Amino acid sequence: KFRNQHFQQKELEQILIEADTDKLTGLANRRRLDEFLDALVTIFPEEKKSFSLIMADVDYFKYYNDTHGHQIGDLVLASIASILKNSIRRGDLVARYGGEEFVVILPNCSKENAILIGNKLRLAIFDENIQFQEQQPMGNLTCTFGIATYPDDAGTKELLLKKADECLYDGKASGRN
Ligand code: GH3
Ligand code: MG
Ligand code: MG
Repeated sequence: KFRNQHFQQKELEQILIEADTDKLTGLANRRRLDEFLDALVTIFPEEKKSFSLIMADVDYFKYYNDTHGHQIGDLVLASIASILKNSIRRGDLVARYGGEEFVVILPNCSKENAILIGNKLRLAIFDENIQFQEQQPMGNLTCTFGIATYPDDAGTKELLLKKADECLYDGKASGRN
């Protein structure tokens, strides 16, 4: 009886983990991201610690998929996910936000620091030797980033995501990477 209970408990824990995890990349999914942001916004009045959000979108990824196929494209997404995960501090969160979009949350992090970290992430992806990257329009597989800081740039999580997305769009328009 004890053994059965033990395995049922393990199974339940596994189900709870999977509910919060993106299957392809192993990153947090949108659900987990939402909960994390809600928690940071909720404790802000007490802790008064700003936090920053970095949104990243792969450059010319449709071109990559069209040229090399979706399956190799999936491997690229998994590589980018590991680069992001290995470049952050404990306590930060990396999530897969959409198809080829990622969000990094940096608790207790000013905009100045977030810009330094965003640049570090950008270079880490730029420097990674990703298969077939030389065939990309810019000769490298890169991401463009948008950064927003709470509460300086927005007072809700929705507006914070929107602000980072707008900055990302500006980055795309002004040359990507
Ligand atoms: P931009 O530099 O402006 O971001 O151009 P883009 O081609 O990256 O942007 P676009 O939004 O046109 O294309 C995104 C592509 O991402 C299209 C879609 O096929 C691909 N994509 C989205 N999710 C996945 C996925 O899970 N796996 C793979 N392999 N590709 C995906
Ligand atoms: Mg996109
Ligand atoms: Mg893209």
